[in-house]
Amino acid sequence: MPGGVSSPVRAIQPYPFYTVRGSGSRIYTADGIELIDCCGAYGPLILGHACKPVGDAIAAALDDGWLYGTPTPAEIDLAQILIADHPSIEMVRFVTTGSEATMAAIRLARGYTGKSDIIKTEGGFHGAHDGVLVQAGSGCTTLGQPDSAGVLSDIVRHTRQVPYNDTESLVSLVEKSGEEVAAMILEPVMGNIGPVLPKPGYLQEVRKITAEHDILLIFDEVITGYRVGIGGAQKLFGVIPDITTLGKIIGGGLPLSAFGGNRKIMEHIAPAGPVYQAGTFSGNPLSLAAGVAALREIHARKEMYTLLDKATTVIGESCQGKGGSFVKLGSMFKFFFRTLAPENYAQAKESDTTQFRAFWEKMLKKGIFLPPSQFETNFLSAAHSDSDVEYLSSAYASCLSA
Ligand SMILES: *Cc1c(COP(=O)(O)O)cnc(C)c1O
Repeated sequence: MPGGVSSPVRAIQPYPFYTVRGSGSRIYTADGIELIDCCGAYGPLILGHACKPVGDAIAAALDDGWLYGTPTPAEIDLAQILIADHPSIEMVRFVTTGSEATMAAIRLARGYTGKSDIIKTEGGFHGAHDGVLVQAGSGCTTLGQPDSAGVLSDIVRHTRQVPYNDTESLVSLVEKSGEEVAAMILEPVMGNIGPVLPKPGYLQEVRKITAEHDILLIFDEVITGYRVGIGGAQKLFGVIPDITTLGKIIGGGLPLSAFGGNRKIMEHIAPAGPVYQAGTFSGNPLSLAAGVAALREIHARKEMYTLLDKATTVIGESCQGKGGSFVKLGSMFKFFFRTLAPENYAQAKESDTTQFRAFWEKMLKKGIFLPPSQFETNFLSAAHSDSDVEYLSSAYASCLSA
């Protein structure tokens, strides 16, 4: 396995630990160490590890076999939940990963509008497919440079970039080239460079600017969906995108993602329309069983969002006066080794990663697993107890001081 891992974020120098079990707020390593987990598998596990109702639903589904290659009633159950919860979604297509969801959403936007280009925000992550592996932005009108070997510059020249939280750059880009732009895709709250929050009014402005130029707005809510609340960032901030992508939490910890939008747009998807999209494992029965159980559990325990928000506030208080900035939204949080909270990718990148690494190691020694990067969001789950939160707070305080 290149780098010893199945996905690059999991690599830790000189080598990663191996996990053999997860339960509630804890993971257990092959070396017999118990860790409080603030990574949550990079987002899906808002109910914690091995949540019983989800596990029971998976076990019950197993008795009936686990793949048929036909439609199933569980697809209808989950589609109804997603449609009821998301103001922007009237029709939905299930896929397996978030990368697939954004890839299809972009193809759909191109097929629907007949236009070629997309706009993404610098540092916005939308999975590991060619058109979105563009990161290094040197000004909004600069054509994208690929971020990975093997990606054709012919493809990413259709990916334009703007800084997050910067409507001026967006306006000047669309005024110049808006006629070529099919869609703007963004994480409404940036989750893949730590959390970076939208300035008041930013998302509303983006909605207005894109609508004025017949540019579809794609909210990539793969992280924020059911994370910042039921209905995701679109509900929280009251901004309705044209297309929404979901993943992570909606599968209850099994591989399941989706994209959706209004009927007029979504009926462009095959076989109803001309935009092709397909998958052997799409909407597989096990993932659907886990997803339906997880979302029902979340609905039954809505108060978790208030509790999670209080918990990260407590952790944030222990980070006061430690020379960096604590950023949070509900259960998403991060301490940046940068005096002021970053507002975009360029600012986030100014954080002191050497200090982060020293801090991260101290936290690990105290039995706390944080994602091993300054640029990955920490996640709290409903399984973290008050005493976990107290322990985390005092560990933050002492490790930051050290
Ligand atoms: C994780 C993530 C993806 C990719 O999802 P995968 O299931 O890893 O393919 C896409 N967009 C955002 C915002 C993500 O956080």
